[in-house]
Amino acid sequence: MAKHLFITGANRGLGLTMVKQYLNDGWIVTACCREPEQAQELTDLLQQFDALSIFQLDVTDYESVELLAANLTEEPIDLLINNAGYYGPKGGMLGSTPVDEWRKVFEINSIAPLKLLEAFRPHLKRAKSSCFAVLSSKMGSMTDNSSGGAYLYRSSKAAVNSVVKSLAVDLFEDEISVIALHPGWVRTEMGGPNGLIDVDESVTGLKTVLDHLDMTQTGMFFDYKGQEIPW
Ligand code: NDP
Repeated sequence: MAKHLFITGANRGLGLTMVKQYLNDGWIVTACCREPEQAQELTDLLQQFDALSIFQLDVTDYESVELLAANLTEEPIDLLINNAGYYGPKGGMLGSTPVDEWRKVFEINSIAPLKLLEAFRPHLKRAKSSCFAVLSSKMGSMTDNSSGGAYLYRSSKAAVNSVVKSLAVDLFEDEISVIALHPGWVRTEMGGPNGLIDVDESVTGLKTVLDHLDMTQTGMFFDYKGQEIPW
């Protein structure tokens, strides 16, 4: 039976490329984004792939997350990828940290992933050897932080790394593996034009990591090459 991927933020960047690669690999894909009517490249895939379904979802609208989970209640999910993310304002801000933006970055990057997992835990439980993967960032690593700054984004990814660690413990008995992923510095809207790799290279690597994952790796933090990242 074909495996089932559920992914957020699927209209562009890494999310869209993951949708394409998993469809090409024969998976059933449930792709969510905030504005499907604007997501031309994603919706065009519907003509090519019967295995694709698209749903409108803002990951911070927790009622909608619950509703969608209820609508898909019979469907086992093998792989749940929290890809949606937000960097927030760029540039130096120490001394004038914008707290409303910080709250927004935290809401999207740290709180929403846990709420997504809470809603879809039964679906993951229904599949065998399922996985919850969170697109984190090396910028959330304490050990790796030698350049400072980026308070909003760094702290939000460090927080979601902590969520990943606790979930790995709490979901162990359900045999759901939980991992944090660093996609590399990728040329997307968020990564910008100076990124070191393109979306295809990043997603090919991330998919290889996910394809070979088992419960011995739950609670770990990997980059797209399968290298472990220090917390
Ligand atoms: P993009 O900025 O290209 O895409 C971000 C995606 O997240 C978009 O689909 C966006 O939707 C979606 N999104 C943002 N807020 C919400 C929300 N509230 N609800 C639903 N969807 C939302 O980023 P990337 O593709 O580069 O990044 C994907 C993930 O990888 C992120 O979590 C990011 O932090 C992480 N990452 C990326 C790196 C890089 O170099 N690119 C490096 C390290 C980590 P919309 O179009 O509606 O705004």
